[in-house]
Amino acid sequence: MRKYVIMGPQGSGKGTQAKLLCRDYDLIHIGTGDLLRWHAQNHTRLGAQVKRMVTAGQLVPDELMQEIVRERLDQHDWNYGFVLDGFPRNVAQSRYFTERWDVDAVVLVDVPDPVVIERALARRQCSQCGLDYNLLHHRPAVADTCDACRGRLVARADDTPEGLRARLGDYHGQTRPVLELFAQKERLLCVDGTRPIEVIQAEIRQRLGLPLRAAA
Ligand code: AMP
Repeated sequence: MRKYVIMGPQGSGKGTQAKLLCRDYDLIHIGTGDLLRWHAQNHTRLGAQVKRMVTAGQLVPDELMQEIVRERLDQHDWNYGFVLDGFPRNVAQSRYFTERWDVDAVVLVDVPDPVVIERALARRQCSQCGLDYNLLHHRPAVADTCDACRGRLVARADDTPEGLRARLGDYHGQTRPVLELFAQKERLLCVDGTRPIEVIQAEIRQRLGLPLRAAA
């Protein structure tokens, strides 16, 4: 059973890379941003607590986040591996994580800031079926309309220039130091995230030593 953490700034494509790995290797994608958005959309008590912070691109307090991840991993069926995406995001969270779980590797998808901003501002998601789009690579046949289900495409509430600046500030100040900690304890792979999706995916698979399957 394989366990990985994937890291990188927002818009680095780490979520896409995680989903491709999960699709072909029977792994479960555990995205903490997705978990929080699920709570917000479904009006749980936790959702009410975190909605404002998630919308503003601010980090959710560590204790709450740690609780969410612990609960999610407690519920996990350990017959399946996973790719954890979005946690840990600062040194306190990484201490919490490394004291409880270990992983086979940490993959960093590295992308410079200007590329992060350009990509994130072009991100859209179907409000009906949840399909992801990036308008830099994939324009829907009808503007703002999902090709698959005709739902309306919307930007994430935190994908604004201000929200992105806040998240990039947190990334450099708080998340990058996590990599130094991980480098001491876990296998850390750094891949250049500015290349085409399938090239990055092929490098990740090869460096993780995964059995060869055609990358998407
Ligand atoms: P993401 O989809 O990973 O960009 O996460 C969206 C938002 O969820 C972030 O901007 C934070 O508000 C919150 N979030 C996700 N993961 C964490 C975390 N590990 N610690 C604190 N806040 C988080």
